[in-house]
Amino acid sequence: MHLKNPALLRSEAYINGAWVSAADGKTFAVHNPVSGEVIAQVADLGAAEITAAIDASVPAQKAWAARTAKDRAVVMRKWYDLAMANADDLAVILTTEMGKPLSEAKGEIAYGSSFIDWFAEEARRISGDVLESPIPGKRMLTLKQPIGVFGAITPWNFPNAMITRKVAPGIAAGCACVLKPAEQTPLSALALAVLAHEAGIPAGVLNIVTGMDAPAIGKALCDDPRIRKMTFTGSTEVGRILMRECADTVKKMSLELGGNAPLIVFDDADLDDAVEGALLSKFRNAGQTCVCANRIFVQDGIYDAFAKKLTERVASMKVGDGMDAGVEQGPIIDEQGFAKIVAHIDDARAKGATVTTGGVPHERGGTFFAPTVLTDMDNSMQLFSEETFGPVAGLFKFSDEAEVIAAANDTEFGLAAYLFTKDAARLFRVSEALEYGIVSVNTGIFSSEVGPFGGVKNSGLGREGSKYGIDEFLEIKLLCIGD
Ligand code: ADP
Repeated sequence: MHLKNPALLRSEAYINGAWVSAADGKTFAVHNPVSGEVIAQVADLGAAEITAAIDASVPAQKAWAARTAKDRAVVMRKWYDLAMANADDLAVILTTEMGKPLSEAKGEIAYGSSFIDWFAEEARRISGDVLESPIPGKRMLTLKQPIGVFGAITPWNFPNAMITRKVAPGIAAGCACVLKPAEQTPLSALALAVLAHEAGIPAGVLNIVTGMDAPAIGKALCDDPRIRKMTFTGSTEVGRILMRECADTVKKMSLELGGNAPLIVFDDADLDDAVEGALLSKFRNAGQTCVCANRIFVQDGIYDAFAKKLTERVASMKVGDGMDAGVEQGPIIDEQGFAKIVAHIDDARAKGATVTTGGVPHERGGTFFAPTVLTDMDNSMQLFSEETFGPVAGLFKFSDEAEVIAAANDTEFGLAAYLFTKDAARLFRVSEALEYGIVSVNTGIFSSEVGPFGGVKNSGLGREGSKYGIDEFLEIKLLCIGD
């Protein structure tokens, strides 16, 4: 890995402002998914070290919260500036450990950093209220105070942005954090810690604990009563485990879980816009995001034209090493992810789907998979009810609006939905009827620091980013004052 600033590459955990190895010296390997090559051996911590990180974070949080919001904002702004100054290196680290094309990694660094910038500003706008008291002689005020120390667990598909989207609002609010990054992609998290340290985020405010035994680390965080909140992005299955583990200490929770995004194309949509939107939404990050379109519903009048055009575009996509110029799709993260893609395609074919392009492992071998389009899909197929998390566009034909709304909502998930139509009344009607936290209309990309991100149903709890995101890390206190 060639970096302009090699100091960004760390393999120890970051606790209380220091770089630490596991007490027993254990490490785990991080691989480049392009080749399987080992790129680092990272500290493999156990539950005892997690407790040490919590021990450090408790006093650090109190001191950090005692500083003015403006002061915290200045330090965070420095962190943002350093992240932008090191953006190229952060992108190289990200692509090397995760596999997404370098251009996408650069986009993620800009997106991820935007949360640091945004929440640095938001820190200064945490304001309580003075209320009109209903009782003579009494005054009522609200104070907004940081919830305390929080635990965070993040996934591998956005190794930078999922860290900042949690850490930035938390520390802006005056909290401290113990964060466990995904075992596949700890290097991006550690590089962010290098820059946070340089920016002057105090020791103990941001702790990055690395390790292979996610259940043990998760339990150590959830069981500890000093951790007042858990924030998690990952599978619904693990989200449920964490929710159960947090029950005894009644922690506040933010959960960004699985999705099963519908993308609906009506006959009146602009065909080119719909195809481009579907491509962006479906094939970004090789289909490995929880907001990637999973089920593409196309109205019967435009179905054949859409399928033809999408197939042509998908067939010409360049697959390869994300570090090579022009590559649009990298490898799948691991064998398990690869196996699910194969299973969904096999199941769909067995039940009558047609492969119009791809459908097979890519000739490069490893975990590379050919970008795929399937037509003649129906709701008996696995892909209808489960997220594929891969480069597979499944096309379902529909004829009327009520039918497609019912099909789109026929899932336990409710994160993102997409809609392509030129009819303004339909745009509102369908957007209102979709049981999702996000509806993206006539565009395949909606993410920014300004829009609230989060889902309903089994897709989770709470919102990240936006003016609402900081509330997840604050408690409201009533102050009632008699004469
Ligand atoms: P994915 O399928 O994206 O890997 P997971 O939900 O398995 O989704 O993983 C997301 C994050 O949750 C990772 O950091 C992983 O290490 C962690 N994780 C997995 N299992 C558990 C668990 N039982 N408790 C706590 N964290 C876990």
